[in-house]
Amino acid sequence: MTEIETVVLELTREPKIAYFSMEIGVHNDIPTYSGGLGVLAGDTIRSAADLKLPMVAVTILTKKGYFTQDMDDTGWQTEYPAVWDPAAYMQALPYRVVVQVEGRDVVVQAWIYNVQSLTGGSVPVFFLDTDLPANSPADREITASLYGGDLAYRLKQEIVLGIGGVRLLHEMGFEIRKYHMNEGHASLLTLELLNRLKKPIEDVWDEKLVWDRRSVKNLCVFTTHTPVEAGHDKFPYDMVARVMGEIIPTATLQDLAGKDKLNMTLLALNLSRYINGVAKKHGEVSQSMFPGYVIHAITNGVHSFTWTCDHFKRLYDEYLPGWANEPELFVRVGRIPDERLWDAHMKAKNDLIAYIREKTGSEFSPDILTIGFARRATAYKRADLLFRDLERFEKIGAGRIQLVYAGKAHPKDEQGKRLIQNIFKYRDRFKGRINIVYLKNYNMSTALKIVSGVDIWMNTPLRPLEASGTSGMKATHNGVMNFSVLDGWWIEGHIEGFTGWSIGPAPQELTPGADADSRDSEDLYHKLENIIIPAYYDDRHTWVRMMQNAIGKNAYYFNTHRMMRRYVTEAYLR
Ligand SMILES: *Cc1c(COP(=O)(O)O)cnc(C)c1O
Repeated sequence: MTEIETVVLELTREPKIAYFSMEIGVHNDIPTYSGGLGVLAGDTIRSAADLKLPMVAVTILTKKGYFTQDMDDTGWQTEYPAVWDPAAYMQALPYRVVVQVEGRDVVVQAWIYNVQSLTGGSVPVFFLDTDLPANSPADREITASLYGGDLAYRLKQEIVLGIGGVRLLHEMGFEIRKYHMNEGHASLLTLELLNRLKKPIEDVWDEKLVWDRRSVKNLCVFTTHTPVEAGHDKFPYDMVARVMGEIIPTATLQDLAGKDKLNMTLLALNLSRYINGVAKKHGEVSQSMFPGYVIHAITNGVHSFTWTCDHFKRLYDEYLPGWANEPELFVRVGRIPDERLWDAHMKAKNDLIAYIREKTGSEFSPDILTIGFARRATAYKRADLLFRDLERFEKIGAGRIQLVYAGKAHPKDEQGKRLIQNIFKYRDRFKGRINIVYLKNYNMSTALKIVSGVDIWMNTPLRPLEASGTSGMKATHNGVMNFSVLDGWWIEGHIEGFTGWSIGPAPQELTPGADADSRDSEDLYHKLENIIIPAYYDDRHTWVRMMQNAIGKNAYYFNTHRMMRRYVTEAYLR
């Protein structure tokens, strides 16, 4: 038996939770994630490893990654493949499984990356790969790029992930106690399970499936992340027939996944015992989108150790030892002297200023209120809300604020790309009066620099489109307050004037009116001018109290240790 087979044999000794996600951010330099979904998956796995949960994870080995971002002088984004070498980080496994794509056999292999915790726990992540000599050149590309290609390409990837993933776990000898689908991309795994669990009554499909559905349901957990209908993957049945073939009879599939198109979300909803949204509000929004199902809510978190900068790590180690594996200790943040908290913050701010100087040549001041805004560049996040009234913006901000932006637009999102260009335009327009930078290649490493180095973290999504959001939780781990629209997690984390500030009205209405932009920007300007800027410059005492509250009331709760304990007790042990 080879060394790696011995490792796998050891792993298969106890039943596991299998966590499936199209993207996972396991490591900054492994670019197999595009944004919040992948980073959340990585944080989930890191906390599972810390807590020694019996978990394995399955994802796609996107060898050309998401993409590397470049911008010309006008801010127009161009994309390059983010090619990386799997062998530098992980080990190829000797196991092979086959899936059918367009009638061909496509061989899938897996690589293993072990997420190790300082507690001694670990979670292996299996990266599925079709780039093998046995496959045709086109099939070798199936696992090449994340969210690239056309709809048929997406379906092929989802066949590899869902069906290939279950076959691989089976081939390796795993006993799986729950399959957790992180978003609908993985829901074809339910079809493979239906087939595996079917009873040998060859001529009565229906009766057999009634029984099968229940068993499959008992095995499956589904987390939905998308609060809009258009965001769910849907495949026309003629494409499904051509690309995937008939895994289960078409009539049964239509019954489970929708009459007109194969809707991946519907398939997961119909075959999962436990379903949840990623914040309380998102649970309610999902419930109203899918009234026939019981949809719970487990609010997201972030992995505390990963998202705390070194200066704060040292501070927490000194005053709250054990915090990383027990973030509840943040409740005792009051033990940290004010000046030490402020000092750690200023160090993080100076690190960011040095980074900005190195990357852009721009000179930021440590004494000016610095606002951060970094996330996927896409219309609903409204990166340019601050610039709705340019005169007012200048009057409020000149000499008093500076702004750090970052974020990638999806290669096909023209509107998102224009948003980036707009920020560049404002950068040039306010040059010499208000410092604005747009940093390239937002990834986990730049994210940590920005969320820890700014004074406030701003988020301006159009309600109710931010399912949860997690970057604001990262900020709170570094004593940085949020100034955000009441959507997603912030509805739960916000206490006005204590943990941060809201933008716009309370989140009563489900669909925003046409005046949402003007109403929200009005509130944004008002609070910035009359509350936030005066507090920053004239009331350091209150400011530091609020930094404490961000840690003691927000980071305390919005972490993946708390989140994973809830998944265990509410979803996995059911
Ligand atoms: C945390 C994170 C996100 C998610 O940010 P939101 O503001 O919650 O959308 C996206 N991209 C990267 C690189 C991150 O680290």
